[in-house]
Amino acid sequence: MERYNSAAELVAARKPERPVLCARPHAAGRAARWFLENFEGDVAYAYKANSSVFLIGALFGAGIRHFDVASLPEIEDAATIPGANLHFMHPVKSREAIRRAYHEHGVRSFALDSEDELRKIVEETSDSSGPARDLALFVRIAVPAINSRIPLERKFGTGGQLAARLLVEARQVAGDLGITFHVGSQTMTPDAYVNALGEVQRLIGMAGVVVDRLDVGGGFPSVYPNMQPAPLARFLSAIEEGVDKMPVRDNVRLMCEPGRALVAEAESVVVRVEARRGNDLFINDGGYGILFDAAHLGWIYPARLVSRDVGPSEPLVPFELWGPTCDSIDHMKGPFLLPASIREGDYLEIGNVGAYGRAIAGDFNGYGRYEEAILDDEPMMTLYADAETPAALLR
Ligand SMILES: *Cc1c(COP(=O)(O)O)cnc(C)c1O
Repeated sequence: MERYNSAAELVAARKPERPVLCARPHAAGRAARWFLENFEGDVAYAYKANSSVFLIGALFGAGIRHFDVASLPEIEDAATIPGANLHFMHPVKSREAIRRAYHEHGVRSFALDSEDELRKIVEETSDSSGPARDLALFVRIAVPAINSRIPLERKFGTGGQLAARLLVEARQVAGDLGITFHVGSQTMTPDAYVNALGEVQRLIGMAGVVVDRLDVGGGFPSVYPNMQPAPLARFLSAIEEGVDKMPVRDNVRLMCEPGRALVAEAESVVVRVEARRGNDLFINDGGYGILFDAAHLGWIYPARLVSRDVGPSEPLVPFELWGPTCDSIDHMKGPFLLPASIREGDYLEIGNVGAYGRAIAGDFNGYGRYEEAILDDEPMMTLYADAETPAALLR
């Protein structure tokens, strides 16, 4: 894999015809070290956010040993990581996936949000000597999305009497009983976690069970041009305060499952401008590629010209971007602020696409094939610039 000091150096050396996915593994490593140093429990990387070997390698190098996985293919991949602890946190799993996860890949942690799923897990992990005794079962509860840019509340999670009953039933078969939730991705303020922990406490009271594990899920934010979240340290201190209030505090093992917050900064995509029409730029990646969220959620990513220098006096103006496929929804409204003189043949670096960009990209119309490179410079935007002195994030 070629390494460069910057996207500008890469473009000068390669003049790439295809878009280039540029990894900054050092940024993923730095984010992981920050979570490992500051979170009082297991930090499980949500594998689906980005499974690039360069980023997984950096996360592993930083000390990440827990992984949140959602399917058998993810488990088969992640099981090759030495010493990995895999947590199968999808609340609806196929029987084959449960069986093979447990018997072939050593998975002991499972999430569930229904009695049917509990029954499936118990049946598929039993053997001739009887039911498994080493299961860690996490009941996924529904919690409201508060200030989350991608709410996840409608699909999974149980609550109220149903949740209390499920906790009691899971307690009878679980070695460790856990509770888990997800406040929604890119949650901008810590109150979502405070509220969710209140709900956890209420349910533990209702069920009257001993809980051994508490998994606060993912949802930790990254930074984008129009999304400046509360400092990450405040999320962790809010979680700590919430957990400290719980009667179970001293005996509960904590876990979190960041995806976005560990990898968002760690990839860019370098694209070429194939045409300019007014302030619309036609580029060679888009809504069916790395830039899915830019097209379909209207997300704005940092963008800069990397193929030539323009004077500091040249104004930045708002551009809209169009992806390479024939589909008219392959459009990214932005605005993306770029030098006024942008023209055909220019290369742009679009930054902070490491979360869910590579993971979602398809190859509709024959696009969506990428060259790859590693960059050693800073991400275009970062929450962790001062992270090697964690106190900086408290300000
Ligand atoms: C997607 C997912 C995560 C990661 O979410 P982020 O918002 O990327 O942090 C964590 N846990 C579960 C169960 C998920 O589905």
